Amino acid sequence: MSRLRAEIYLDYAATSPMLSQAQETMRAVEAEAFGNPSSEHWAGAAARDVLEGARAALLARAGIGERLVFTSGATESNLLGLLGTALAAGHERLIVSAIEHPSVSAATRLGGRFGMRTEVVGVDSDGRIRLDELARVLRGRPASVALMHASNEVGTLQPIAAAAELVHRAGGTLHVDAVQSFCKVGLDELAEADTVALAAHKIGGPRGIGALLVGDVRLESPLGGGTQEGGLRHGTENVAAAAGFASAAVDGDPAVVAPALTERADHLRDEIAREVPDIRWTGDPERRAPHIVSAIVPGVAGEVLVASLDAIGIAASVGSACRARNVDAEGSGVLAAMGATRSESLCAVRFSVGMGTTPGEVERAGALIGEVVHRLREMVLSGWQADAAAGMTREKEVAA
Ligand code: PLP
Repeated sequence: MSRLRAEIYLDYAATSPMLSQAQETMRAVEAEAFGNPSSEHWAGAAARDVLEGARAALLARAGIGERLVFTSGATESNLLGLLGTALAAGHERLIVSAIEHPSVSAATRLGGRFGMRTEVVGVDSDGRIRLDELARVLRGRPASVALMHASNEVGTLQPIAAAAELVHRAGGTLHVDAVQSFCKVGLDELAEADTVALAAHKIGGPRGIGALLVGDVRLESPLGGGTQEGGLRHGTENVAAAAGFASAAVDGDPAVVAPALTERADHLRDEIAREVPDIRWTGDPERRAPHIVSAIVPGVAGEVLVASLDAIGIAASVGSACRARNVDAEGSGVLAAMGATRSESLCAVRFSVGMGTTPGEVERAGALIGEVVHRLREMVLSGWQADAAAGMTREKEVAA
């Protein structure tokens, strides 16, 4: 398509641009609170003050958890939450849902090296975990369970409070991946979770820092712990990044953010549906993260659509950014777990909006997405028609 590139970013669920206040905070901290927070002198004390201030601010924003451990991101938080509780409690079983992020699957593989077995609980066609199956898999016995709050691929919110009750009744622990919901949806539903993973870069903070909220539960680091972060992590804390994380969270009041993102996402759905009326939205239509617009576009492979949109400057995704660079021929495993066919799973696409998304961008994106979908469908159709015509000619030649 020979037009100016649109440069429209619709992949906030993969990562979000860093907010200016987070950038400024980080610059100031690097300059003024450069000390090692473990040092005894004045420079260490200044860095410690900033670190503890960030910790307190994030705990207040989350509104749940007794402690907060800074990590390198949600991948590490998922590892520490799931395996850390299992190691401390001596659980030999891990239970995860069929739609967890690849970082949780990585944690279960590491769990295997500690002799832990993993069992998987299915979801329904909206991507909601089957609570009756969770109860059955628990069999009334303790296990470390990991569930995500909001699905990164289809946006569905899980019934975490009900799951926590089942897990605790069986004597187990519950880790929740709240990466996609933090600062967009209130976390009250997660009040009974034992550990909760967060990541700064999904809320306009820096990349490479995350956190684990910890309730009244014991943790043992699978990485051997250290002297920092309550004995759960080795290494000098990234004080500036922690401060940038807390600074981004200042704007993350779900009461303000959720309606604003819902409006943008609904607008995008309307614009796309006008151009592509047979699009099928995926995930729970009601209980969902407000920023994720996920769909199946019949007859258009998600990978091809995303690459074609990128060529004109629209950034979207097939689902998890971690999967995008690791494409297989099976399509979205999340949609497959929701009962979609292989063809449907191959046609998955995910758009995600942020507070920076404007109505003008949404309108332009809707029109361009429609154009690209029609063009891709025509290409396939004209190929089929050409093949059919060639086949007819061959048949006539054979008959003659
Ligand atoms: N969990 C979910 C639901 C995610 O969307 C992501 C990021 O894509 C992660 C975990 C991993 O986060 P990070 O890249 O900060 O390790």
